[in-house]
Amino acid sequence: MTRIVGGRAEALRAAMAGAVICPQDPGYDEARAVWNADIDRRPSLIARCGSAADVAVAVGCAQAEGLEVAVRGGGHSMSGQSVVDGGLVVDLGGLRRVAVDAPARRARVGGGACWRTSMRRPRRTVWPCRAEWSRTPGSVG
Ligand SMILES: Cc1cc2nc3c(=O)[nH]c(=O)nc-3n(C[C@H](O)[C@H](O)[C@H](O)COP(=O)(O)OP(=O)(O)OC[C@H]3O[C@@H](n4cnc5c(N)ncnc54)[C@H](O)[C@@H]3O)c2cc1C
Repeated sequence: MTRIVGGRAEALRAAMAGAVICPQDPGYDEARAVWNADIDRRPSLIARCGSAADVAVAVGCAQAEGLEVAVRGGGHSMSGQSVVDGGLVVDLGGLRRVAVDAPARRARVGGGACWRTSMRRPRRTVWPCRAEWSRTPGSVG
């Protein structure tokens, strides 16, 4: 069941740089949709995080409210692990930065980066990826 957490939503909006989406907001249905169209869950809050600080604020909010958390990267989980009925979605879509340290053969990939982004970023770099035919799943998820 979707819980009404209007006051907390306002507090979260004030504390976060990214957007906070509630059931009554325009775009809510798009924001809660995941790759598997059979999954139809209604979170109470969707926190579109743009930074690690936003993630910390969102998780703190969920803890304070006793809300279950789902973490969304690319939203590709077959079983819909990235959306939760009545809980809070930590949407990492704004965290897409991919930084490659070629000499060290190391990359730091944002939690919201999908394979399309990850495979494009490291120009002129040998970059073996585990991505197969699909470019939309999250690289980290
Ligand atoms: C049709 C299809 C094609 C695919 N093709 C590829 C491919 O080409 N290459 C590839 O590498 N993979 C592929 N996958 C698999 C995909 O990598 C995995 O499903 C991956 O987990 C998706 O990552 P995501 O960020 O999109 O997931 P999301 O759905 O965004 O989930 C994020 C991750 O966080 C986890 N999570 C959510 N909430 C919590 C919580 N509270 N605590 C802890 N963990 C949590 C979820 O279990 C999930 O692992 C494919 C999957 C499908 C269904």
